[in-house]
This record gives sequence, C-alpha cells and structure tokens, in this order.
Amino acid sequence: MVMTPRPRVEWAPEMLRYDFGTGHPMSPARLALTIDLAGELGLLEHVDVVAAQVAPDELLTTVHEAAYVAAVRRAADEGVRDEARGLGTRDDPIFPGMHEASARAVQGTHDGALAVWRGETDHAVNIAGGLHHAMPGAASGFCVYNDAAVAIRALLDAGAERVAYVDVDAHHGDGVQAVFWDDPRVLTVSVHESGRTLFPGSGHAYETGGQHAEGSVVNLPLPAGTSDAGWLRAIDAVVPPVLHAFGPDVLVTQHGCDTHRMDPLSNLRVTVDAQRLVAQRLHDLAHEVAHGRWVALGGGGYAVVDVVPRAWAHLLAVAAHRPVDPDQVVPQAWRDRVARDFGREGPVSMSDGAVPAFRTWESGFDPADEVDRAIRATRAEAFPLLGLDVHHE
Ligand SMILES: [Zn+2]
Ligand SMILES: [Zn+2]
Repeated sequence: MVMTPRPRVEWAPEMLRYDFGTGHPMSPARLALTIDLAGELGLLEHVDVVAAQVAPDELLTTVHEAAYVAAVRRAADEGVRDEARGLGTRDDPIFPGMHEASARAVQGTHDGALAVWRGETDHAVNIAGGLHHAMPGAASGFCVYNDAAVAIRALLDAGAERVAYVDVDAHHGDGVQAVFWDDPRVLTVSVHESGRTLFPGSGHAYETGGQHAEGSVVNLPLPAGTSDAGWLRAIDAVVPPVLHAFGPDVLVTQHGCDTHRMDPLSNLRVTVDAQRLVAQRLHDLAHEVAHGRWVALGGGGYAVVDVVPRAWAHLLAVAAHRPVDPDQVVPQAWRDRVARDFGREGPVSMSDGAVPAFRTWESGFDPADEVDRAIRATRAEAFPLLGLDVHHE
C-alpha cells in the first residue's frame, strides 16, 4: 500500500488579522473557533499545518490590477477610502493591516494549491481563503483579494491544463467566475441562493461563459428557503456530471457555510449534516475526476459560534481522511471556551440532528417544484455545452 502524504492546512494566527472591526459579520473569531475545535477533536495531529506568508505584489497582480493593489495599501496605511474600488464601504471597511491580512490569505491558498500540484500532498485546506467576491479591480462582499483566482492562475502557470472550481457558498462566486469568464481551461461552478433574493444578484443559469469558453461557467441559483433535500438533490444533479465531463487536473472547492439555516445573511435552510455530506462528496469527486488533487477553501459563514466551527472542522476532518462522526459530542474544553469568551452556550453535538437524504434526478422531477425548475434550467443551459445529455447522465 502506498502511503499518501499528510494533508496540508494553511494556518497562521496572523490570519486572524483579517478583521473589518466590531459589528462586522465576518468576525475572525469564526476562524479561531474552527482551529480550536479541530485541535480539540485531535484533527491537527494528522495534518501538516503550514504558516502562510504575505503574498508579494507580483503574485497578487497575476489577477488584480496594480492600481487596485496600490489602492488597498493606501487605504490600509493612510486611511484613504476609494469607494469606486470598494474600499471603505459598509461591506468592506478599511482596517489597519488590510493589505497584509488579505495577501496572506492569498499566499495560503496559492501554496496549498502548488503543493497539491507538485504531488507533495493530495489535499490542502485554507479556511481563511475562499474570498470569492473580490474582483480584479475592486473589493466586494467582504473580500479584498481573490485567493481562489490567484491560486487557479498559478496552477495553470505551473502546467495544469484544466482546473475546476466548485463553490457551494450561499452567495454566487462572482469574482472567480469573472476572472475566468472567457478561459476554457477553467470550469467555474457555483451553487447559491438566487440573485433575486441575495447579494451579489448575479449567477443566473444563462451565464455560461464567454465566447471563447462557452460551457466553462455553470450556475445553479436556488430559491430562498431551499433546505437539505433540495440543496443535496441540486448539487447531485449538476456537479458530478459537469466535473466528469470537464475532467479537471485539479479540483478547487469553496465551502462557504452561510447556506446554514441559522446563518444571519442568507435565506437557505441547510444543516451542518448536509454541509458535511457535500464536503465528503466533493472530496470523493476529487479522487474520481482529478487524481485526488483537492484544494478546499472556506468562504462565507456568519453563525460564528453555532455553525462555522463545526462545518469547517468536518471539512478538515474529511481532508485528513478522519471523518468526524456526526453523533460525536463537541469537546467540553471548546464549549468552555465559548462560554468564557462569548458568555453563551455553544453547540453540544457535531450534528444538527438531521439525517440528510435526497431523491436523485434520475428518479424523476416535479415541474411544479421550484428547486426542480432551477435544476432543470441549469442542466438545460450548461449540459449541452459540455456534451452532456440533459435528460440522462
Ligand atoms: Zn482523499
Ligand atoms: Zn457567502
């Protein structure tokens, strides 16, 4: 038996400096609580924790405009707002160290991706990454630099011919889609709450890629209120077939957990149990279609105590090939820390008590059902462009 190398986790306490300030939903406590929980569950003993440095400008500018990087520095160092570039807005307030903290998240995802590409490890995880809304010339939706896009570009530059990106955050992965819109080497797939009810408003099924890359963009917008059964059914009906058809060399996934029913910013109704199942499925797909090369990222998630730590501890566990039993009790030491730091009770179980089940698309669909109509629309737009049969597969 061949021993596979230990998975990598890109983590440094300095990543907690990505902090828009008190009252902002994207509290760095969500990362600290996740790493703490993973530690208490014994997961960090089975991975290589690697401390990312701050990405140099030469790396950032493979995706971002030099003038934008300069504007981020000016904002952070001199407090100069630049609302045209999204800096100093309500979503993206300026904070000291903004450039360094954002560039460190980029370097983490980049290093993990290249370690996977070079075969030093099969899987790399960066829970501080997945900043999918950042645009080449602007901050957006709590995202300053687009770590996923920079890492994908680096994979292409290193020789990967095809990279697939799957984003299951509640919000459309618009920044990554925009960067590779007209690049046939990159398949971007986003499953999200419809833009009719949620930021950023894009991610319609008819967005399928630029004229040189038709079919390289797949969007699956779901109605507000979609719960486990619909979310899992939708992912199963679209993601495996498009990944098999595309045949990537590497799979990059974004695991924003703001799909959860307790999340304050989205209207989806997913449980930690379904999120765990999807992490496992995307892991398995990396082995099925991409030689096991898997780069998994965090993303959104604003139920800082109740959801994010458990969702991403499960993700880390999956990547470490040491899945955590959903029935496992949350370690008391972690709950004590929550009580001390937050003055409230933390979750007791690694499960929400849901037993996620779904019907497969092959078993038939209901034209009156909103989720089914969304799935059908996406398959109708995307499948023919990828050489897939809308009715089968
Ligand atoms: Zn694996
Ligand atoms: Zn999100």
